Amino acid sequence: MFGIDVNLIKKYDKPGPRYTSYPTAPQFSESFTQNDFMDEIVRTNSGQDLPDLSLYYHLPFCDTLCYFCGCNMIVTHNRERIKKYVEYLKREIDLTSSHVAPGRETTQIHWGGGTPTHLDPDEITDLISHIKKRFDFKEDVEAGCEIDPRELTKDHLYALKSGGFNRISMGVQDFNEKVQKAVNRIQPEQMTRKVIGWVRELDFQSMNLDLIYGLPFQTSETFEKTIDSIIDISPDRIALFNFAFVPWMKKHMSLIRPEDMPPAEEKLIILKMAIEKLTGAG
Ligand code: SF4
Repeated sequence: MFGIDVNLIKKYDKPGPRYTSYPTAPQFSESFTQNDFMDEIVRTNSGQDLPDLSLYYHLPFCDTLCYFCGCNMIVTHNRERIKKYVEYLKREIDLTSSHVAPGRETTQIHWGGGTPTHLDPDEITDLISHIKKRFDFKEDVEAGCEIDPRELTKDHLYALKSGGFNRISMGVQDFNEKVQKAVNRIQPEQMTRKVIGWVRELDFQSMNLDLIYGLPFQTSETFEKTIDSIIDISPDRIALFNFAFVPWMKKHMSLIRPEDMPPAEEKLIILKMAIEKLTGAG
């Protein structure tokens, strides 16, 4: 059985930058300007044997606010605002792609957010077509998109699939209802399973599920039930994140009461349980 050294984890239990983006946030500096960015693109697009491209697009809009959210996002139902953003994004794609050396191919593309599927299916089709006009995709490109099952229709998935996406990622966090209420993300297990059924029916190559431990009211016993369901669902990938409670950076996190959160010891037990169960399940 995979062993977890709790003392080692305690020793290194210090806040660090989120590793989900590279470079990590502390590396960003305002002294690196828009012009520096453009110069860098020009510099790295001259010469021979240029590497392939990975493209990331940020669609920051969401339908509702999850109190644990650490992303750069905006809750809006103003479709004009979304349209305007997409128009600016297309202009930026034009500007940037004009500096990319001809022949460089895209091997990876990812849409994150926010909720990229807060765009409607036609907007998804329009944006991916625009990107494809400006960048050449390799035949075996890895194309991933984050989705939110709470507002997703099958047409969104059709639009992604016909646009060439082959990887889907979805937040689950925890199936427990009390936890979901406390973080304002009501996403019943049945809803998640239904959408995963669609993803499989449409033959996307990979399905990732995100989980978070350290959320309010979580205990090792309750989270174990979520882990059991996840093992039963059997996604291709799982990301299990530690909840970073930073209300001084993200004001909306103050809507979570610190006294409802599991103490550090319990969090460690939850992590240990999750690693052991998931590892045990292969
Ligand atoms: S759907 Fe995702 S990006 Fe939007 S608020 Fe919730 S966690 Fe944040």
